[in-house]
Amino acid sequence: MRQQNFYASTYLDRAHDRRKDHDWLSGRLGEESTRFLVIWRDQQLLVRGPQGARPALLSPDAFGDVSERLADTVFLGLDSAGAATFSLDLSSVAEPLSGIAIPSDIADDLLMEPLRAIGSRLAAADAGLLAYARGMANWHSRHRFCGVCGAPAKSTDGGHVRLCTNPDCRAQHFPRTDPAVIMLVTDGDRCLLGRQKVWPPGMHSTLAGFVEPGESLEHAVAREVREESGIEVGEVIYQSSQPWPFPASVMLGFRAKAVSTEIKVDTAELESAGWYSRDFLKSHPGDSSFCIPPRDSIAWRLITDWLESE
Ligand SMILES: [Zn+2]
Repeated sequence: MRQQNFYASTYLDRAHDRRKDHDWLSGRLGEESTRFLVIWRDQQLLVRGPQGARPALLSPDAFGDVSERLADTVFLGLDSAGAATFSLDLSSVAEPLSGIAIPSDIADDLLMEPLRAIGSRLAAADAGLLAYARGMANWHSRHRFCGVCGAPAKSTDGGHVRLCTNPDCRAQHFPRTDPAVIMLVTDGDRCLLGRQKVWPPGMHSTLAGFVEPGESLEHAVAREVREESGIEVGEVIYQSSQPWPFPASVMLGFRAKAVSTEIKVDTAELESAGWYSRDFLKSHPGDSSFCIPPRDSIAWRLITDWLESE
């Protein structure tokens, strides 16, 4: 397999077959080898180390009687030694760390950070684990109620299903991932990049947008490029994908060949768009006058792969 995109790899075996085994899951909650990744609202608990921050993976004895917290956990999977890893969402309490017995060797080095803020500074495997946990937490927090009948929905199957509590409904709801296409449009030795007003100064990136119902990915690529820039594309070739749990996307990366070149910017979507040559992008300043997105993004990967693909 090619090098994976950032956020796309986790070292866990997801152990799908264990999710319906309630007794096994309950037993793992108190198991000495089990580890918990603490989530609080949009943040997760990390520990600073000599190599940078890593997820703080706490053992059950940090939490007292953890068996009462099953509904707030998501079973993420098994590590290489077979130990279970759960996320534990403490968003309902005002002070997430009060009442937790933090091991003294890491107590001074803990930090809570949003993944979006710290992601690019993490090791890839850690970032992948946190992206998985973050996506699950976002889904639970946004799907408290049944979308069919409006009754409360409860977490089940190790946190991978939400079940409607209305006995006349009992609808099952599954974690949601919204497909979005992101594409580098090329015209010979130059590529199309755009800029949104809300981005950091100087940042230019590939165009992107959500796939709509009843639309193929290729059609979504062509439509988004046409809407945002007025450019028509021909051949559309898949490159790679990336989980982007901010809040619930999977980014599907493409390269698309332009068949027209005159740009008409949709100013509701973009502040500007333009053609940029390979030579310019290889020597661009990388500062607030011109830069491309950070290395944890698939946009960076799409642009960089193209620059290296002469
Ligand atoms: Zn329902």
